[in-house]
Amino acid sequence: MKPDQLLHPAPAGLYCPAGDFYIDPVRPVARALITHGHADHARAGHGAVLATRETLDIMQIRYGADFCGARQMAAYGERIDLGGVAVSFHPAGHVLGSAQIAVEKDGLRIVASGDYKRGADPTCTPYEPVPCDVFITEATFGLPVFHHPEPKAEMGKLLTSLRQFPERSHLVGAYSLGKAQRVIRLLRDCGHDAPVYIHGALAPLCDYYISRGIDLGDLRPATAEGSSPADFRGAVVVGPPSAFSERWARRFNEPLVAFASGWMMVRQRAKQGGVELPLVISDHCDWPELTGTIRELAPQDVWVTHGREEALVRWCELAGIPARPLHLVGYEDEGD
Ligand SMILES: [Zn+2]
Repeated sequence: MKPDQLLHPAPAGLYCPAGDFYIDPVRPVARALITHGHADHARAGHGAVLATRETLDIMQIRYGADFCGARQMAAYGERIDLGGVAVSFHPAGHVLGSAQIAVEKDGLRIVASGDYKRGADPTCTPYEPVPCDVFITEATFGLPVFHHPEPKAEMGKLLTSLRQFPERSHLVGAYSLGKAQRVIRLLRDCGHDAPVYIHGALAPLCDYYISRGIDLGDLRPATAEGSSPADFRGAVVVGPPSAFSERWARRFNEPLVAFASGWMMVRQRAKQGGVELPLVISDHCDWPELTGTIRELAPQDVWVTHGREEALVRWCELAGIPARPLHLVGYEDEGD
């Protein structure tokens, strides 16, 4: 069997004809396997969904209990047979519950890694290398210029700013699934024990992380009625980036806007977004992680998707590993 026969791009997403399922389809399908809960990968309206417990829970929190027809839970490492195709989910280290999906038939194994990272992140299970014939990798930061710094060093910048500007409310933009919880956990690991105020949009997923054993410390609503700007003086307030352009942000005392994202490597992006304190904290691989992972797995073939496909394809070719871009559409990188 050729790899293309086992798994190939179709209009709705990556499709496995033998098992009649899609991985992270971008439109409603009869059977979907979902790598993780970010909106560009996990959509509502599928007939049946197979995913990790956390991803199913996260989809329910975001879309409601009727987000799909039928759901099935996959534990990490468990082999599940779908029409003669063995599928299994393995930790991707991206956000809570995130998984790579291994698809195997007649001795051929393809691993669709979804979004993944190699750096330490105490809010989710670390990435696990899965030997495979074909490795499908993301390439969100697939250019040699992308080197993500140590997250604790980035968090140190925020703590330094809090000391320098004790009157100012420090507003930290962070996507609601994964990044927000990671930022809060990082703050705690860097010794920041003060209450952290969160925008209401973050509460359901923060509560869920806490219920899964991720200690986020003292969290308080930043949207409490009757609060005055003085209440948030010198405090860290975490909210979705979109909230900072709303009236909500104006309640704070001399707000200092920070944003935690891998894209903060690109100065232009920080400037355009009015970000005073860019924090380069990413839930994706940087260039050394991407190339290091491919070297480690040494697959026969690499398929590159969502992001800067061409540079990584070129790198693989120079390293003697056949590679090609997949050109899947519809992945917008919600949680960089
Ligand atoms: Zn993601």
